[in-house]
Amino acid sequence: MALRNRIVMGSMHTGLEDLNDGYRKLAAYFRERAKGGAGLIITGGISPNFVGRTSPFAASLNFPWQVSKHRRITEAVHEEGGSIVMQILHAGRYAYHPFPVAPSAIQSPISRFKPRALSKRGIESTISDFARSARYAQAAGYDGVEIMGSEGYFLHEWMVPRTNHRQDEFGGSFINRIRLPLEVVKRIRIVCGPKFLIVYRIPVIDLVEQGMTFDETVQFARALEKSGVHILNSGIGWHESRVPTIATKVPRGAFVEFTRKLKGEIKVPLIATNRINTPEVAEQILKEGSADFVSLARPFLADPEFPNKARAGKSASINTCIGCNQSCLDHIFERKRASCLVNPRAAYETERVLIPAARRLKVAVVGAGPAGLSAATTLAERGHSVTLFESSDSIGGQFRLAREIPGKDEFAETLRYFTNRVQETGVTLKLRTRVAADALKDFDEVVIASGVKPREIALQKSNDPRVVAYPDLISGKVTIGRNVAIVGAGGIGFDVAEYCLKSGEKGESYEKHLTSFFSEWGVDRTLRSSGGLIRAETPSCDRKIYLLQRKEKFGATLGKTTGWIHRAGLKKNGVEMIGQVDYRGLWENGLLIATPSGERKLEVDQIVICAGQESVTDVAEDLERLGKRSHRIGGAKLAGEIDAARAIREGYLLGLELGN
Ligand code: NAP
Ligand code: SF4
Repeated sequence: MALRNRIVMGSMHTGLEDLNDGYRKLAAYFRERAKGGAGLIITGGISPNFVGRTSPFAASLNFPWQVSKHRRITEAVHEEGGSIVMQILHAGRYAYHPFPVAPSAIQSPISRFKPRALSKRGIESTISDFARSARYAQAAGYDGVEIMGSEGYFLHEWMVPRTNHRQDEFGGSFINRIRLPLEVVKRIRIVCGPKFLIVYRIPVIDLVEQGMTFDETVQFARALEKSGVHILNSGIGWHESRVPTIATKVPRGAFVEFTRKLKGEIKVPLIATNRINTPEVAEQILKEGSADFVSLARPFLADPEFPNKARAGKSASINTCIGCNQSCLDHIFERKRASCLVNPRAAYETERVLIPAARRLKVAVVGAGPAGLSAATTLAERGHSVTLFESSDSIGGQFRLAREIPGKDEFAETLRYFTNRVQETGVTLKLRTRVAADALKDFDEVVIASGVKPREIALQKSNDPRVVAYPDLISGKVTIGRNVAIVGAGGIGFDVAEYCLKSGEKGESYEKHLTSFFSEWGVDRTLRSSGGLIRAETPSCDRKIYLLQRKEKFGATLGKTTGWIHRAGLKKNGVEMIGQVDYRGLWENGLLIATPSGERKLEVDQIVICAGQESVTDVAEDLERLGKRSHRIGGAKLAGEIDAARAIREGYLLGLELGN
């Protein structure tokens, strides 16, 4: 079997799998990615039976009547010259429903439901379920299957003492523990024949206690080779690991070195994964021989055309995945349809369709932050004549601040993408132009994307130089104090704490960055320990930082899949988080607060205000006074809980609509 290139679109659940009309939408979603040049596509996880489903309404392939739905997908991909395998995923004890099964009745720390230990009969029928599901996948036209054997799911749970306490022939020795996963592979090979592609997602590094050793990984990989697996894909970590594996904070390609170690031990082709988000990183991995394929999952949400653009040398035109998880994985864990922060069309291919404008309009967009950029470029792409006004000397709005936060450098990629898009789509960009309502009268439509300004609070009234607004700190206008109190613990308060801790690390070399990431999170680069974990190093920061809020619970507004990383990171670095605070005012040496346990005098020389935002609406209001209608989007429309995902989505949707 020949694949057209070495780029694998990694498995990524979108939630469409679980919708009534989802497969028509999924077919369009995969068609676009196949057309975009993906070499091999792996679907989101499909369960082989009822109990293996990730959630009560999640997709499974265990009845013959389900085959035709899948055929829509395979036909779409094949028509575009692509290849596709279906991932079979049995969730095991990660299943979010009351009937999970596992080798032993051990509840996961991240699940509500305790699994039932599978009986011998249950084991036999589960193996048959895997084989039947693969057989149906073959009947549906898939080129093969990927067996999900890592990330702490069902098959992985059999392989380690952490989750397998059995005394029978499926527990105890390593040979016993890998019996079930190997039997699954052998059975699929028998029912699907020698040509049907079998990819196995093998655990390369577990990042949990009582996980696999690297010797065991090698032993298992060789056993898989013998059982007829064609390709091995790298699995990194468990869902319950306390080491970030895919978030923005993870250096690009950080875990490839572990794949490289395995590469030297086996003959079948191997796929590298996790945080590979640019053609340059991907090419480097292949060039240095760390792997035979590169897998990109989220980057295909961000830009379905990634491979074609890479092949054409147009890497600067790629809409880069910034690793935020905000609209993809966070949505999935909230049981919502996934999409992408930087590409709101992802997984909405049949609903968000860009068609040339019926009437060509002259449109003004005020503000070149994420919302304005998204609206302006979408409108221009549809044929409108668009002028984008920006009062500062560069585009980006709040993104310009975000990219200054250590670990958020990826936001600069979105600015690079939009800089390019503005040129490609022919938007007339007017920087350093504070446009007045009067000057907008002659435009057919005006879009107000003037964004937000920081909310001012009582503490700022004294004009004390110790009290600063967060933009002044992050932009470098004010230098970071010796000891700092941060007022407000929303996303920006957390970011500012990170900035105060690590601003010195910006610009350090990749290798240094990688070393400090692994030592901060306790990753054993030698892979000698089980699970690949060692004691994390205590970071050294001699600055005392307080993060304050009036509410009790910290980080409630942070992303579901990344909030814990921010909280753990600050804790490791000794940031003191104080909730239920009443701000009493300043004192000679800092800030006076009251908490339920009494008054406290915090000794700080700087107080950074991160108390949320207010909409900037002056131009919109002036226009109203002139009797001219405008369209408000992003922070200018509603400042509360504004984030880049909403800003870009609102800009995009308005862009699709005007002039229809
Ligand atoms: P935010 O999430 O609304 O947080 C504002 C904080 O200020 C709250 O902690 C609030 O806590 C406090 N506050 C509000 N009014 C106050 C007052 N009058 N006096 C003192 N404290 C006050 O806003 P943000 O942090 O500016 O973030 C803006 C948006 O960007 C949010 O949607 C956020 O999710 C998003 N964002 C996310 C991330 C991320 O996920 N990592 C990073 C950056 C931004 P109390 O009321 O409890 O005091
Ligand atoms: Fe990447 Fe963020 Fe888009 Fe997810 S939402 S695909 S992490 S850019």
